[in-house]
Amino acid sequence: MLRDQFGRNLHYLRISLTDACNFRCVYCMPEHIRFKDRKDLMQNDELLFLARAFVDLGVDKIRLTGGEPMLREGLTEIISAIKGMGVNDLSMTTNGSLLADKAEELAVAGLDRVNISLDSLDPTKFRRITRWGSFADVWAGIIAAEKAGLTPIKLNVVVVRGYNDDDVVDLAGLTLEHPWDIRFIELMPVGSEGGFALDALVPSAETKAKIESAFGELEAVPGYNGEDPSRPYRIPGAPGRLGFISSVTAPFCAGCTRLRLTADGKLRLCLLHEDEVDLLTPLRQGTSYDEMKRLIAKAAWRKPWGHKLQESQFPLNREMYQIGG
Ligand code: SAM
Ligand code: SF4
Repeated sequence: MLRDQFGRNLHYLRISLTDACNFRCVYCMPEHIRFKDRKDLMQNDELLFLARAFVDLGVDKIRLTGGEPMLREGLTEIISAIKGMGVNDLSMTTNGSLLADKAEELAVAGLDRVNISLDSLDPTKFRRITRWGSFADVWAGIIAAEKAGLTPIKLNVVVVRGYNDDDVVDLAGLTLEHPWDIRFIELMPVGSEGGFALDALVPSAETKAKIESAFGELEAVPGYNGEDPSRPYRIPGAPGRLGFISSVTAPFCAGCTRLRLTADGKLRLCLLHEDEVDLLTPLRQGTSYDEMKRLIAKAAWRKPWGHKLQESQFPLNREMYQIGG
Protein backbone atom coordinates (compact mmCIF):
# COMPACT_ATOMS: atom_id res chain seq x y z
CA MET A 1 0.00 0.00 0.00
CA LEU A 2 1.24 3.52 -0.80
CA ARG A 3 1.07 5.79 2.23
CA ASP A 4 2.25 9.34 2.64
CA GLN A 5 3.71 11.19 5.61
CA PHE A 6 0.17 12.29 6.62
CA GLY A 7 -1.21 8.75 6.66
CA ARG A 8 -3.19 9.06 3.44
CA ASN A 9 -3.67 5.84 1.47
CA LEU A 10 -2.71 6.75 -2.11
CA HIS A 11 -4.69 4.24 -4.12
CA TYR A 12 -5.86 6.42 -7.01
CA LEU A 13 -3.60 7.15 -10.00
CA ARG A 14 -4.29 9.49 -12.90
CA ILE A 15 -2.24 8.75 -15.97
CA SER A 16 -1.86 11.37 -18.67
CA LEU A 17 -1.63 9.62 -22.04
CA THR A 18 -0.58 12.65 -24.06
CA ASP A 19 -0.19 16.39 -23.72
CA ALA A 20 -1.75 16.95 -27.17
CA CYS A 21 -5.33 18.05 -27.69
CA ASN A 22 -7.76 18.81 -30.48
CA PHE A 23 -9.38 21.63 -28.44
CA ARG A 24 -7.77 24.80 -27.16
CA CYS A 25 -9.83 25.65 -24.06
CA VAL A 26 -9.09 29.22 -23.05
CA TYR A 27 -8.26 28.31 -19.44
CA CYS A 28 -6.06 25.33 -20.30
CA MET A 29 -3.72 26.17 -23.18
CA PRO A 30 -2.80 28.88 -25.64
CA GLU A 31 -4.12 28.55 -29.19
CA HIS A 32 -0.70 28.18 -30.80
CA ILE A 33 1.35 25.57 -29.10
CA ARG A 34 3.93 22.88 -29.75
CA PHE A 35 3.35 19.61 -27.94
CA LYS A 36 6.12 17.29 -26.81
CA ASP A 37 7.79 14.94 -29.27
CA ARG A 38 6.36 11.44 -29.17
CA LYS A 39 9.77 10.00 -28.24
CA ASP A 40 9.81 12.07 -25.04
CA LEU A 41 6.54 10.56 -23.85
CA MET A 42 6.11 7.15 -22.23
CA GLN A 43 5.86 4.46 -24.90
CA ASN A 44 3.09 1.89 -24.42
CA ASP A 45 5.40 -0.72 -22.83
CA GLU A 46 6.85 1.90 -20.47
CA LEU A 47 3.43 3.16 -19.49
CA LEU A 48 2.21 -0.37 -18.74
CA PHE A 49 5.39 -1.22 -16.78
CA LEU A 50 4.79 1.79 -14.53
CA ALA A 51 1.03 1.17 -14.25
CA ARG A 52 1.70 -2.40 -13.12
CA ALA A 53 4.16 -1.19 -10.48
CA PHE A 54 1.51 1.19 -9.08
CA VAL A 55 -1.12 -1.56 -9.08
CA ASP A 56 1.29 -3.89 -7.25
CA LEU A 57 1.72 -1.10 -4.70
CA GLY A 58 -2.03 -1.01 -4.01
CA VAL A 59 -3.47 1.35 -6.63
CA ASP A 60 -6.96 0.06 -7.46
CA LYS A 61 -8.41 3.07 -9.22
CA ILE A 62 -6.95 4.53 -12.41
CA ARG A 63 -8.14 7.44 -14.54
CA LEU A 64 -6.76 8.08 -18.02
CA THR A 65 -6.47 11.72 -18.96
CA GLY A 66 -4.40 14.15 -21.01
CA GLY A 67 -4.33 16.44 -23.08
CA GLU A 68 -7.00 14.56 -24.90
CA PRO A 69 -6.51 10.85 -24.07
CA MET A 70 -8.51 9.74 -27.10
CA LEU A 71 -5.73 11.06 -29.34
CA ARG A 72 -3.37 8.42 -27.97
CA GLU A 73 -2.53 5.67 -30.41
CA GLY A 74 -3.27 2.23 -29.00
CA LEU A 75 -5.80 3.53 -26.46
CA THR A 76 -7.97 0.42 -26.69
CA GLU A 77 -4.96 -1.86 -26.04
CA ILE A 78 -3.83 0.32 -23.12
CA ILE A 79 -7.29 0.10 -21.55
CA SER A 80 -7.46 -3.63 -21.99
CA ALA A 81 -3.98 -4.17 -20.51
CA ILE A 82 -4.63 -1.95 -17.47
CA LYS A 83 -8.00 -3.54 -16.81
CA GLY A 84 -6.27 -6.92 -17.00
CA MET A 85 -4.03 -5.88 -14.09
CA GLY A 86 -7.07 -6.15 -11.81
CA VAL A 87 -7.94 -2.46 -11.41
CA ASN A 88 -11.42 -2.10 -9.85
CA ASP A 89 -12.27 1.26 -11.33
CA LEU A 90 -10.85 2.32 -14.70
CA SER A 91 -12.15 5.64 -15.98
CA MET A 92 -11.20 8.34 -18.46
CA THR A 93 -11.58 12.12 -18.54
CA THR A 94 -12.16 13.28 -22.10
CA ASN A 95 -13.48 16.23 -24.01
CA GLY A 96 -15.86 13.70 -25.62
CA SER A 97 -15.34 14.92 -29.18
CA LEU A 98 -14.15 11.52 -30.45
CA LEU A 99 -16.33 9.30 -28.28
CA ALA A 100 -19.33 8.83 -30.54
CA ASP A 101 -17.56 6.24 -32.70
CA LYS A 102 -15.37 4.66 -30.02
CA ALA A 103 -17.43 4.43 -26.82
CA GLU A 104 -18.58 0.86 -27.43
CA GLU A 105 -15.08 -0.37 -28.31
CA LEU A 106 -13.58 1.21 -25.19
CA ALA A 107 -16.30 -0.25 -22.96
CA VAL A 108 -15.67 -3.72 -24.39
CA ALA A 109 -11.93 -3.27 -23.78
CA GLY A 110 -12.60 -2.69 -20.07
CA LEU A 111 -13.19 1.02 -19.54
CA ASP A 112 -15.72 1.36 -16.70
CA ARG A 113 -16.85 4.96 -17.03
CA VAL A 114 -16.08 8.42 -18.37
CA ASN A 115 -16.02 12.03 -17.21
CA ILE A 116 -16.79 14.35 -20.09
CA SER A 117 -16.03 18.05 -20.05
CA LEU A 118 -19.00 20.19 -21.06
CA ASP A 119 -18.77 23.87 -20.24
CA SER A 120 -21.89 25.14 -22.01
CA LEU A 121 -25.05 23.94 -23.77
CA ASP A 122 -24.92 26.91 -26.11
CA PRO A 123 -22.93 25.92 -29.23
CA THR A 124 -21.60 29.46 -29.74
CA LYS A 125 -20.40 29.81 -26.15
CA PHE A 126 -19.05 26.28 -26.22
CA ARG A 127 -16.96 27.22 -29.22
CA ARG A 128 -15.75 30.42 -27.57
CA ILE A 129 -14.50 28.50 -24.51
CA THR A 130 -12.98 25.55 -26.33
CA ARG A 131 -11.85 27.61 -29.36
CA TRP A 132 -11.83 24.52 -31.64
CA GLY A 133 -14.59 22.33 -30.15
CA SER A 134 -17.99 21.40 -31.57
CA PHE A 135 -20.88 21.09 -29.12
CA ALA A 136 -22.72 18.65 -31.44
CA ASP A 137 -19.78 16.23 -31.48
CA VAL A 138 -19.46 16.25 -27.70
CA TRP A 139 -23.19 15.79 -27.18
CA ALA A 140 -23.10 12.79 -29.54
CA GLY A 141 -20.17 11.47 -27.49
CA ILE A 142 -22.11 11.76 -24.23
CA ILE A 143 -25.11 9.91 -25.65
CA ALA A 144 -22.86 7.18 -27.10
CA ALA A 145 -21.04 6.78 -23.78
CA GLU A 146 -24.31 6.33 -21.94
CA LYS A 147 -25.51 3.79 -24.52
CA ALA A 148 -22.24 1.86 -24.17
CA GLY A 149 -22.71 1.64 -20.39
CA LEU A 150 -19.80 3.93 -19.48
CA THR A 151 -21.83 5.02 -16.48
CA PRO A 152 -22.45 6.83 -14.20
CA ILE A 153 -21.89 9.61 -16.72
CA LYS A 154 -20.11 12.52 -15.06
CA LEU A 155 -19.97 15.90 -16.76
CA ASN A 156 -17.26 18.38 -15.71
CA VAL A 157 -18.08 22.07 -15.99
CA VAL A 158 -15.25 24.51 -15.31
CA VAL A 159 -16.98 27.78 -14.42
CA VAL A 160 -15.26 30.76 -16.04
CA ARG A 161 -16.40 34.31 -15.36
CA GLY A 162 -17.46 36.07 -18.54
CA TYR A 163 -17.62 32.80 -20.51
CA ASN A 164 -20.12 30.39 -18.95
CA ASP A 165 -21.04 31.64 -15.48
CA ASP A 166 -24.55 32.37 -16.81
CA ASP A 167 -24.89 28.83 -18.17
CA VAL A 168 -24.74 26.97 -14.89
CA VAL A 169 -28.54 26.98 -14.41
CA ASP A 170 -29.18 25.36 -17.82
CA LEU A 171 -26.40 22.82 -17.18
CA ALA A 172 -27.79 21.97 -13.73
CA GLY A 173 -31.22 21.58 -15.35
CA LEU A 174 -29.89 18.58 -17.33
CA THR A 175 -30.12 16.55 -14.12
CA LEU A 176 -33.91 16.89 -14.22
CA GLU A 177 -33.96 14.75 -17.38
CA HIS A 178 -30.83 12.61 -17.16
CA PRO A 179 -29.32 10.47 -14.38
CA TRP A 180 -25.98 12.25 -14.83
CA ASP A 181 -23.60 13.74 -12.27
CA ILE A 182 -22.79 17.33 -13.15
CA ARG A 183 -19.81 18.74 -11.33
CA PHE A 184 -19.03 22.45 -11.29
CA ILE A 185 -15.28 22.95 -10.93
CA GLU A 186 -13.51 26.05 -9.70
CA LEU A 187 -10.94 27.35 -12.13
CA MET A 188 -7.46 26.60 -10.81
CA PRO A 189 -4.42 28.71 -11.62
CA VAL A 190 -1.73 26.45 -13.08
CA GLY A 191 1.16 27.33 -15.37
CA SER A 192 1.14 30.02 -18.03
CA GLU A 193 -2.68 30.37 -18.04
CA GLY A 194 -2.68 30.86 -14.25
CA GLY A 195 -3.19 34.63 -14.37
CA PHE A 196 -6.31 34.15 -16.49
CA ALA A 197 -7.62 31.64 -13.96
CA LEU A 198 -7.11 33.95 -11.00
CA ASP A 199 -9.11 36.69 -12.72
CA ALA A 200 -11.91 34.45 -13.99
CA LEU A 201 -12.47 32.32 -10.86
CA VAL A 202 -16.10 31.90 -9.80
CA PRO A 203 -16.30 30.53 -6.25
CA SER A 204 -18.46 27.41 -5.88
CA ALA A 205 -20.64 29.21 -3.33
CA GLU A 206 -21.66 31.69 -6.03
CA THR A 207 -22.40 28.94 -8.57
CA LYS A 208 -24.48 27.00 -6.04
CA ALA A 209 -26.41 30.15 -5.03
CA LYS A 210 -27.22 30.86 -8.68
CA ILE A 211 -28.53 27.33 -9.19
CA GLU A 212 -30.55 27.48 -5.97
CA SER A 213 -32.11 30.77 -7.00
CA ALA A 214 -33.52 28.97 -10.05
CA PHE A 215 -34.43 25.56 -8.57
CA GLY A 216 -34.77 26.13 -4.82
CA GLU A 217 -32.54 24.71 -2.10
CA LEU A 218 -30.52 21.68 -3.20
CA GLU A 219 -30.80 18.45 -1.16
CA ALA A 220 -27.59 16.82 0.08
CA VAL A 221 -27.60 13.22 -1.22
CA PRO A 222 -26.87 10.81 1.66
CA GLY A 223 -23.93 8.40 1.63
CA TYR A 224 -21.05 10.78 0.90
CA ASN A 225 -17.76 9.02 1.70
CA GLY A 226 -15.56 12.11 1.97
CA GLU A 227 -13.05 10.83 -0.61
CA ASP A 228 -14.72 12.31 -3.67
CA PRO A 229 -13.87 16.03 -3.78
CA SER A 230 -17.51 16.89 -4.42
CA ARG A 231 -20.34 16.22 -1.98
CA PRO A 232 -23.37 15.22 -4.06
CA TYR A 233 -26.54 17.33 -4.13
CA ARG A 234 -29.82 17.01 -5.99
CA ILE A 235 -32.52 19.31 -7.27
CA PRO A 236 -35.50 17.86 -5.35
CA GLY A 237 -36.96 15.01 -7.43
CA ALA A 238 -34.20 15.01 -10.08
CA PRO A 239 -32.65 11.70 -11.24
CA GLY A 240 -29.21 13.27 -11.69
CA ARG A 241 -26.89 14.82 -9.13
CA LEU A 242 -24.88 18.00 -8.78
CA GLY A 243 -21.46 18.54 -7.23
CA PHE A 244 -19.16 21.48 -6.58
CA ILE A 245 -15.41 21.02 -6.66
CA SER A 246 -13.95 23.90 -4.69
CA SER A 247 -10.23 23.25 -5.01
CA VAL A 248 -9.40 26.94 -4.60
CA THR A 249 -11.84 28.14 -1.92
CA ALA A 250 -12.11 24.90 0.10
CA PRO A 251 -9.19 22.51 -0.53
CA PHE A 252 -9.88 18.84 0.15
CA CYS A 253 -6.35 17.68 1.05
CA ALA A 254 -7.49 15.42 3.92
CA GLY A 255 -9.47 13.22 1.53
CA CYS A 256 -6.94 13.30 -1.32
CA THR A 257 -5.78 9.82 -2.31
CA ARG A 258 -4.39 10.76 -5.72
CA LEU A 259 -1.12 10.56 -7.50
CA ARG A 260 -0.54 11.65 -11.09
CA LEU A 261 1.73 10.30 -13.79
CA THR A 262 2.46 12.82 -16.55
CA ALA A 263 2.68 11.73 -20.18
CA ASP A 264 6.46 12.18 -20.03
CA GLY A 265 6.73 9.84 -17.07
CA LYS A 266 7.00 12.16 -14.07
CA LEU A 267 5.23 11.32 -10.84
CA ARG A 268 3.39 14.50 -9.85
CA LEU A 269 2.65 14.39 -6.15
CA CYS A 270 -0.01 17.13 -6.11
CA LEU A 271 -1.67 19.07 -8.91
CA LEU A 272 -1.03 22.34 -7.11
CA HIS A 273 2.62 21.81 -6.07
CA GLU A 274 5.63 21.69 -8.34
CA ASP A 275 7.14 18.55 -6.74
CA GLU A 276 7.72 15.78 -9.29
CA VAL A 277 9.85 12.66 -9.44
CA ASP A 278 11.13 11.45 -12.79
CA LEU A 279 10.28 7.77 -13.34
CA LEU A 280 10.85 7.53 -17.09
CA THR A 281 14.58 8.34 -17.03
CA PRO A 282 15.47 5.61 -14.50
CA LEU A 283 13.20 3.21 -16.37
CA ARG A 284 15.09 3.92 -19.61
CA GLN A 285 18.37 3.49 -17.73
CA GLY A 286 17.39 -0.05 -16.80
CA THR A 287 16.06 0.28 -13.24
CA SER A 288 14.61 -3.03 -12.11
CA TYR A 289 10.92 -3.52 -11.38
CA ASP A 290 11.50 -3.82 -7.63
CA GLU A 291 13.75 -0.77 -7.55
CA MET A 292 11.06 1.19 -9.44
CA LYS A 293 8.48 0.21 -6.83
CA ARG A 294 10.83 1.43 -4.08
CA LEU A 295 11.33 4.72 -5.93
CA ILE A 296 7.58 5.23 -6.27
CA ALA A 297 6.88 4.41 -2.61
CA LYS A 298 9.62 6.75 -1.41
CA ALA A 299 8.34 9.58 -3.63
CA ALA A 300 4.69 9.06 -2.64
CA TRP A 301 5.62 9.43 1.03
CA ARG A 302 6.48 13.08 0.30
CA LYS A 303 3.04 14.00 -1.10
CA PRO A 304 2.38 17.58 0.09
CA TRP A 305 -0.62 19.06 1.89
CA GLY A 306 -2.30 22.44 1.30
CA HIS A 307 -1.78 25.12 -1.30
CA LYS A 308 -1.20 28.84 -1.47
CA LEU A 309 -3.65 29.75 -4.22
CA GLN A 310 -5.46 32.25 -2.06
CA GLU A 311 -2.19 34.16 -1.77
CA SER A 312 -1.97 34.02 -5.60
CA GLN A 313 0.93 31.54 -5.49
CA PHE A 314 0.48 28.72 -7.98
CA PRO A 315 2.63 26.09 -9.71
CA LEU A 316 4.48 27.27 -12.79
CA ASN A 317 6.59 24.31 -13.86
CA ARG A 318 3.74 22.57 -15.73
CA GLU A 319 0.62 23.32 -17.71
CA MET A 320 -2.76 21.82 -16.86
CA TYR A 321 -2.87 19.85 -20.13
CA GLN A 322 0.49 18.26 -19.19
CA ILE A 323 -0.75 17.13 -15.79
CA GLY A 324 -4.24 16.05 -16.76
CA GLY A 325 -6.44 17.78 -14.21
N1 SAM B 1 -9.00 16.85 -22.46
C1 SAM B 1 -9.73 16.18 -21.44
C2 SAM B 1 -10.87 17.01 -20.95
O1 SAM B 1 -10.90 18.21 -21.22
O2 SAM B 1 -11.74 16.45 -20.29
C3 SAM B 1 -8.88 15.70 -20.29
C4 SAM B 1 -7.80 16.61 -19.81
S1 SAM B 1 -8.37 18.11 -19.03
C5 SAM B 1 -6.85 18.86 -18.54
C6 SAM B 1 -9.05 17.45 -17.53
C7 SAM B 1 -10.02 18.35 -16.82
O3 SAM B 1 -9.34 19.48 -16.33
C8 SAM B 1 -11.16 18.88 -17.69
O4 SAM B 1 -12.41 18.66 -17.05
C9 SAM B 1 -10.87 20.34 -17.80
O5 SAM B 1 -12.03 21.09 -17.97
C10 SAM B 1 -10.18 20.60 -16.49
N2 SAM B 1 -9.34 21.78 -16.46
C11 SAM B 1 -8.45 22.21 -17.39
N3 SAM B 1 -7.84 23.34 -16.98
C12 SAM B 1 -8.37 23.64 -15.77
C13 SAM B 1 -8.14 24.66 -14.81
N4 SAM B 1 -7.26 25.63 -15.04
N5 SAM B 1 -8.84 24.63 -13.66
C14 SAM B 1 -9.73 23.65 -13.41
N6 SAM B 1 -9.98 22.64 -14.25
C15 SAM B 1 -9.31 22.63 -15.42
FE1 SF4 C 1 -7.89 20.00 -24.29
FE2 SF4 C 1 -9.06 19.18 -22.06
FE3 SF4 C 1 -7.33 21.25 -22.03
FE4 SF4 C 1 -9.68 21.57 -23.15
S1 SF4 C 1 -9.31 21.12 -21.00
S2 SF4 C 1 -7.70 22.18 -24.05
S3 SF4 C 1 -10.08 19.60 -24.01
S4 SF4 C 1 -6.84 19.15 -22.49
